[in-house]
Amino acid sequence: MKAWPAVAVGLAAALWLADEVVDQPPPRPSPRAGREPGPPPSANGLVPPPVGRLQGGRRDSSSRPTLCLQPLGSFGGEALAALRRDLSRDGPVVVMGRVPVPPPAWRGAGQYDGEVILAALADRQPAGSWLLAVADVDGTKPGRTHAFGLTAASCGRAVVFARRLARGTSVAGYHRRLVVTARHELGHLAGLGHCDDPRCVMRLSRTVADTDRKRPEPCRRCRTGQR
Ligand SMILES: [Zn+2]
Ligand SMILES: [Zn+2]
Repeated sequence: MKAWPAVAVGLAAALWLADEVVDQPPPRPSPRAGREPGPPPSANGLVPPPVGRLQGGRRDSSSRPTLCLQPLGSFGGEALAALRRDLSRDGPVVVMGRVPVPPPAWRGAGQYDGEVILAALADRQPAGSWLLAVADVDGTKPGRTHAFGLTAASCGRAVVFARRLARGTSVAGYHRRLVVTARHELGHLAGLGHCDDPRCVMRLSRTVADTDRKRPEPCRRCRTGQR
């Protein structure tokens, strides 16, 4: 059985963006703040805009890299198909073979550590692509009760935790939450921070009610870089 790759190395190289945390909301010094404190920050503490994806402050969605959708654990079926259909509208999507949630990420009480998951998936990410993992489990990161998603912007990888998104809603409502959460993480990968517009996809969600209020797209200010 293949050992999981060098998690510690991946952790040291990444800059994390934790989303949708219920307790201990991160300090937000400005409406742009989407970069929350986490394990070792990059040299300057900033996420560099991906070259070729932000032009003159505008998000150029047509240049989105190939998106590799990585189902983890039992996630799949119609939820995966719905997510692929939606995300394919913005560029090519490749669905990767399903793999287990990396065992080292287990933190007890049904939760998995998103930072460990993203580091462990490094060797499944084709060069030049973005990788979006979706796990049908509950997610967290150190010091948090839970997280709906997590982005390692400097690595082009993100993870969405589906378990809480499925609660208390219809199948269609669950799929919509998946899309909104995935598009939020992809916004971070494209260089967007958090937004204070409650209907903007880049608004930080602390509860699923927050997610249900959001549209699955950035507001005009986020799209145009005018803040
Ligand atoms: Zn976020
Ligand atoms: Zn916005």
